[in-house]
Amino acid sequence: MGHEPAGAVIKVGKNIKKFQEGDRVFVHHHVSCYSCRYCIQGNYTMCDNYQKSNIEPCGLSEEFIVPKWNIERGGILKLPESISYDEAALIEPFACCIRGLNKISIKHGDNVAILGAGPTGIMHTLLAKTWGANNIVVSDINQFRLKFVEKYDVITVNSNQENLDSIIKENTGNIGTDITILATGSIKAFETSLKITRRGGKILLFGVPSVGSKFELDLNSMYSNEQIIIPSYGASEIETNQALSLISDKSIDLLPLVTHRFQIRESSDAFKCAHDAFDAMKVLIVTS
Ligand SMILES: [Zn+2]
Repeated sequence: MGHEPAGAVIKVGKNIKKFQEGDRVFVHHHVSCYSCRYCIQGNYTMCDNYQKSNIEPCGLSEEFIVPKWNIERGGILKLPESISYDEAALIEPFACCIRGLNKISIKHGDNVAILGAGPTGIMHTLLAKTWGANNIVVSDINQFRLKFVEKYDVITVNSNQENLDSIIKENTGNIGTDITILATGSIKAFETSLKITRRGGKILLFGVPSVGSKFELDLNSMYSNEQIIIPSYGASEIETNQALSLISDKSIDLLPLVTHRFQIRESSDAFKCAHDAFDAMKVLIVTS
């Protein structure tokens, strides 16, 4: 709970030299070991220690402890003056998006579809624009979220009311997208991604599917169309640092994503607000 926290250091453990009381920091809950076979091969979030490492009791807490193990491996980032706590609380999801786009090797001029216009869908949109994507189509079924993403000068599609497949074909010379990003765990969206991605194109499986989600694939079609499905789970300290620098040098402004703030005692209202998403993007829980 509360795995995207930012705050101030109130006490420093013995032999910790890099931090002092009062430092403003972002804390990454999961940290890789950076020395096992997974880590050496670059699969940092597959490291056995990644999910084992954590903060105590959790980030949704007025005070918490960061183990020395995490600190020694880059699990705390000092915040420059230019970055607010609100922005710092967005480092973790933003880092996950950066990792996904790095894995899928998005290039200048790529035609991109983003399925899901929630906070990470918007982050992918902003990153894809910064990376120089050509045509960006964003789809959702939530009208508030579609209206929200419109201001980023992308084509928006309500996939309950419009035919996403034909809009993509129209915008890509009847070819399909080079890259489709699934910023939703919906099985229906996955099915759509196979239809709208061009032969040889790439699909980023980013949104978390429910446990046990099943899908029947036509392996012959997969083989002859050479579509590439790339899952991306979590982020390492490489991407949290990239996220911090993109936010702090003002390359990407994430603050408009913060639509609601709740006090920690109102946490259950905050979760309801984020889950219902009537008029919510990123919902922050604060302690003051
Ligand atoms: Zn490792």
